[in-house]
Amino acid sequence: MLAEKLLLQLLIVLAPVLLCNALTDYKKKWNSPIICGSMHSQAAIACMIFSYSNYGLIWDLRYAPLILAVLYAGPAGGGMVIASIIGARIMMGGGSVHYAILGCLLTSIVPYLLRTRFWNASSNRRVQFTLLSGVWSLILCYLTLLTYHYLNGNTFKLFINIPDLLLFALIYTASLMLAAKLYEGLIEKNRMKEEILKAEKLNTLSELAASIAHEVRNPLTVVKGFLQLMQQDEKGKNYEYFGLVLSELGRAEAIISDYLNFAKPKFEKLEEFALKDILKEIVTLLEPYAVKQGVQLESELDTSDFCLYTDRNQLKQALVNLVKNAIEATSEEGVVTIHTRSDQTHASVLITDNGKGMTPEQLSRIGTLFYTTKDKGTGLGTSVSLRIIETIKGKVFYQSETGLGTTVTIVLPAGKKEELVSSIINEEPTVVKIM
Ligand code: ADP
Ligand code: MG
Repeated sequence: MLAEKLLLQLLIVLAPVLLCNALTDYKKKWNSPIICGSMHSQAAIACMIFSYSNYGLIWDLRYAPLILAVLYAGPAGGGMVIASIIGARIMMGGGSVHYAILGCLLTSIVPYLLRTRFWNASSNRRVQFTLLSGVWSLILCYLTLLTYHYLNGNTFKLFINIPDLLLFALIYTASLMLAAKLYEGLIEKNRMKEEILKAEKLNTLSELAASIAHEVRNPLTVVKGFLQLMQQDEKGKNYEYFGLVLSELGRAEAIISDYLNFAKPKFEKLEEFALKDILKEIVTLLEPYAVKQGVQLESELDTSDFCLYTDRNQLKQALVNLVKNAIEATSEEGVVTIHTRSDQTHASVLITDNGKGMTPEQLSRIGTLFYTTKDKGTGLGTSVSLRIIETIKGKVFYQSETGLGTTVTIVLPAGKKEELVSSIINEEPTVVKIM
């Protein structure tokens, strides 16, 4: 009988959470603290109505809605449940009303105290906090019971069946855990909905930005051409200004090209080529830049003929950006090494520098569009590289320590013509893992 009544109450405790879950899909205001609070109040009163009386005691789960309301619906919602429980208890009457009121107020102390930490905690911790409040209320119930019994002239000894007590504790804890898990599911669902909306907005924005960038690039090229012509005829003091204007125009063009490449990498000419050839070209290309920065650029390429099938220039661009970053992060007399490892299916390119490295916070932001720590940086290089490598189904891993340097590992799949062509045409995004 006790089990039946308690199971019925467990459903009553879960009802508000299920209702909130169903109704928030319909309208956001159903999620408000007052509505949640009033639903939990009704659940608490229903628990008291469907309670089970035995040993001269009332067995019900009224404190479960109270704890859930304080933690999940907020202080106002919690206050509503407290007021409802006290009001209902006074109306029911009986000799131990003041004990019930005291029990209710004491029970709410722990969830109220946990509230600030509750919302800063992770999902699992929040479930644990709910259970902790439940354990506190169980201890409190038991102590109130013993005190009441003692003050009525009995001794401090257990007068209730242990299995009944255990059953009560079990169903009470289960009701709290299930309700907390359902609430967490609801929170996660809402969070994901918001993220999807945000991603949709961002997508529209980036498409808009890409089309504007594309339109701006054409007049820029025309202006640059005419300025170059005018510079040839200029002999006076304006000559040096032309140089400055042209270099800034070049910078603007480079930023626009990088952004467009990021927004939609174009794989125009697909061809088969050996990885070591492209790496040799990159070393030759960046050698003068490294010398200018006072950095030694070394390469240890394995001798295998690992082949790739993709747009050679895009891959080159991706690797050049990463090697350039390594050179820029390294101070004079530092060393940047490129080495490769390969097997039948994959090749890894490791770009190692002994430069300034990155903090975990910087590392978590790398690859974010426009993130840069350089005065004249654009924050586009890494994003473009990651996007290109992602499109050819490669992966990038970062390992970095401040003051010691950084290692970027690029894992590339062997080029099978059919697979890569279809991946580029479908442009399926693969997750680029960064650590
Ligand atoms: P930019 O080079 O224009 O700043 P990137 O997207 O190429 O933009 O790089 C973003 C930021 O990531 C850099 O400003 C730098 O702080 C950091 N970074 C990238 N690679 C390295 C590296 N190898 N070592 C240290 N920091 C790096
Ligand atoms: Mg860069």
